[in-house]
Amino acid sequence: DSELLIIVTPSYNRALQFYYLHRLGQTLRLVRPPLLWIVVEMGSASDETADLLRRTGVMYRHLVCQKNSLEVKDRGVHQRNTALEHIERHHLDGIVYFADDDNIYSLQLFSHLRDIRRFGTWPVAMLAQCKSRTTLEGPVCKGNQVVGWNTNEKSKRLRRFHVDMSGFAFNSTMIWDPKRWFPGAPNSARQLDTVKEGFQETTFIEQLVEDESQMEGLPNSCANIMNWHLHLEARHLGYPRRWQVSSSLNAV
Ligand code: UDP
Repeated sequence: DSELLIIVTPSYNRALQFYYLHRLGQTLRLVRPPLLWIVVEMGSASDETADLLRRTGVMYRHLVCQKNSLEVKDRGVHQRNTALEHIERHHLDGIVYFADDDNIYSLQLFSHLRDIRRFGTWPVAMLAQCKSRTTLEGPVCKGNQVVGWNTNEKSKRLRRFHVDMSGFAFNSTMIWDPKRWFPGAPNSARQLDTVKEGFQETTFIEQLVEDESQMEGLPNSCANIMNWHLHLEARHLGYPRRWQVSSSLNAV
């Protein structure tokens, strides 16, 4: 019950970055410890993020990913791999969850993460501006058994598992001690790949489990939505270069 939760968050400098990181940090602060928040930025670690992490009051690691990708479809993939390498190198033992900075998470979700033995998955509500996007993604369950998938996007019929990046979590030993889970498994690193958009999750999950029988559906019957995935376009928002005010804005 005192399982470590390892929350992996890729983040980058944009108008809403501090709004998002504050919100997520304050949610994580309400989660029962032990919890480790691994925040991975691109290129260099920003002072503002470092300052925010120091004040949040959760245990954290602030990492930097040097491998930059300008491809929009790669959103955060190299940063998540940086965190996976860190987990592997340090043999961190706990439940790994990829929590993007912009999504909304209930506290219920974090307590259910501790129910996971090996690989857990659950349905995620998708909030998008574009009507054609699927509105619910993830497993259909009977008890804790995964018996099918929610999805309605045509291209997604080709995917093996219809799981959102924020809709699964797994035991970190699957990364650095796969033999415990797969008899005779090769010791190759399990990493996210820069594959076609929409296929990142399934390609990664296919390295962790063989089929639905090795998955645990959460919560019971997968009947509750525990987190919401936002797709909001905020590219045109303006923002100050630093969130620190050294002199009054309206000095008189
Ligand atoms: N992200 C990042 N660098 C990028 C693009 C995205 O660090 O160049 C992060 C972003 O902060 C978020 C996650 O990757 O935590 C997913 O990005 P986004 O929400 O934009 O992608 P979507 O989930 O909407 O496809």
